[in-house]
Amino acid sequence: MSVPAPHPFASTTAEFAANLAAVQANIAAAAERAGRSADEVRLLPVSKTVPEDRLCLAIAAGCHRLGENKVQEAKRKSESLARLGVDWAVIGHLQTNKAKDVASFATEFQALDNLRVAQALDRRLTDLGRTLEVYVQVNTSAEESKFGLPPEELAGFLRELPRYETLRVQGLMTLALFTSDTDRVRECFRTLRTLRDRMREESPDLIGTGELSMGMSGDYELAIEEGATCVRVGQAIFGARNTPDSKYWPPTRPHD
Ligand SMILES: *Cc1c(COP(=O)(O)O)cnc(C)c1O
Repeated sequence: MSVPAPHPFASTTAEFAANLAAVQANIAAAAERAGRSADEVRLLPVSKTVPEDRLCLAIAAGCHRLGENKVQEAKRKSESLARLGVDWAVIGHLQTNKAKDVASFATEFQALDNLRVAQALDRRLTDLGRTLEVYVQVNTSAEESKFGLPPEELAGFLRELPRYETLRVQGLMTLALFTSDTDRVRECFRTLRTLRDRMREESPDLIGTGELSMGMSGDYELAIEEGATCVRVGQAIFGARNTPDSKYWPPTRPHD
């Protein structure tokens, strides 16, 4: 396999616009390879670790919804950038005691995998008169990650969600294995799509529009070929991050 080019750092609105256009072109090409329309794929820019001054440039370049992994960082940014009217998507694992924060500012939460969090979110959202778009996170890489539901628990979990009326289920989310073995990466994405297809057949009213949030800077093109309708892309838009990914999800086996 060829060594991927390093992600270009963007520090002007024009550079952000260029990075966004490059990612959109890759999205369109991947969609076309799969016989899909690029309109079916939403690009969610992921802005974790990026400071507010650079976020203003990205917003000026056309980012209207931003994904963040950590609640405190997302909340801080949502407050300091409130005047710019961006929507916030929390895409990382949530502890129950942080649910009330998410309920207060987020439009979207992509990592729902336990009912205590669902209940805490719903209680708070009800108080605030808000709703939240949610994706249920599934662990498609088996033993390699501790976040996300095991596939066999998904149907039972989805059956519990309608009681939380403020949660608007959109579909499913996953993180693929971190490996250069693209067959194994594809396998994770296919597992998510198969689960979605099965749910659509068995209980279509439990899975919203059946969105599939899968794919990040290193693998979004593969994910689109396998059916992604939302890709979460950080480094390819904002530039390479220094913070190791183990800060955002538990260490897995060494990247192979
Ligand atoms: C950081 C992150 C991404 C984006 O990763 P990049 O390598 O920056 O594209 C996607 N999903 C989740 C859950 C993340 O935490």
